[in-house]
Amino acid sequence: MDKKLWIGLDDTDSRKGGCTTYIGAILLRRIRDEGYNIIGYPRLVRLNPNCPYKTRGNAAIALAVEADSPEPFEDIVSSIIEEYAELQAVGTDPGAVLLLGEPSYELKEYYWHVVRDLSTKEEAEKIARQNKVRLLEWNMGRGIIGALAAIGADLTRDKTYELIAHRKKEYWGTVRSFDPRSVWEMDRRTYPLTFDNVDRETGEIRITPHTPCPVLLGIRGVTPNILEEAYKMLTINEPVEFYTIFETNQGTDAHLQLMRIKDVKNNVSAIIDGVVKSKPRFTVGGHVFFTLGDDTGEITCAAYEPTKKFRHIIIELEPGDKVTVYGAVKKKPQGFTLNLEKIHIKSLVDLKIVKPPTCPICSKKMEKIDKTRYFCRDCNAFSRSPEVINIGRKILCGIYEVPPSARRHLSKPLALTSDYQHG
Ligand SMILES: [Zn+2]
Repeated sequence: MDKKLWIGLDDTDSRKGGCTTYIGAILLRRIRDEGYNIIGYPRLVRLNPNCPYKTRGNAAIALAVEADSPEPFEDIVSSIIEEYAELQAVGTDPGAVLLLGEPSYELKEYYWHVVRDLSTKEEAEKIARQNKVRLLEWNMGRGIIGALAAIGADLTRDKTYELIAHRKKEYWGTVRSFDPRSVWEMDRRTYPLTFDNVDRETGEIRITPHTPCPVLLGIRGVTPNILEEAYKMLTINEPVEFYTIFETNQGTDAHLQLMRIKDVKNNVSAIIDGVVKSKPRFTVGGHVFFTLGDDTGEITCAAYEPTKKFRHIIIELEPGDKVTVYGAVKKKPQGFTLNLEKIHIKSLVDLKIVKPPTCPICSKKMEKIDKTRYFCRDCNAFSRSPEVINIGRKILCGIYEVPPSARRHLSKPLALTSDYQHG
């Protein structure tokens, strides 16, 4: 009788090098070499992007194996972590978890908690105990938090895939060798089934990292098939160690939760319905800020310089416009600031200039004499009807997003959502 064993791991890399996806890919191959069947795709699970302990992308790995006992896998996982994790680096605290059977409702809830909020090692230990999850820890072992969340991740509602090609060890730290034109061509032929390959505004290639890690490139897309196709379109000029397709919560907005302003707290990512309260302004450094209000309070919203043209939409907002904002909340000395990832502009106020009317008798400009009345001295004429000029708004209602170069892994690109059409 075949059973399912879930294995999760996290926090194996340091800021300098290593890579969670590489260790995941090695683990998958080692398990296969031992003669076991992997069930489905391995998972690349992004966790709260605002986590202060994160290394780079705050990613954990999980995979499922046909097995009826965790024992043989403890040794496999341990030997791989001891061989490949950056154990000597301060702040690298690997953790691995093994669970026989399917994750409980409680474990699934724990995933939502870790992707949206912060957890503690004690909390992870308690949930592991209650769910009979085996824990393996190195150094401080903080990785058990992400590892546990990764096996609890519920990707049935929404998911994407990423094909990650890893480099041969002798190439690590060297310039990645590929033809950028083939990336643009691949994007032209497969977008939006693949996404975030390039940033059209900056001209940047987005599939290759800039760190010395073992990743050669990663292509994101909506199905495993399109990723295989897209990969074949690339001209790569160095030997590839192997490539692996991961199932992932990237591009799903899993980190965002609908909140009211009075309920926001540091390091969560919120969706807030509100009204623009102040005219947006540019500050030194090219950042744009405005105040948003709902009936529970006010919060500062920010479009930082790297969001480029997105700022040119934000700067056009006017007090009274109704919007829904999406983004990470940070506590600043002046209060909470929401770092915009997306904005839904739902209604725009009419912008008007109110001027004194011309006198109906002599056609000269009348003068304002009190709140409601205008007067012409020459003709002794009164009027209560000012001249009202409507100024057109430069922006339209609709949903706007930051460019790929400023996008977080978890943020869902508008191209993936049919209901995010402008208008
Ligand atoms: Zn007059």
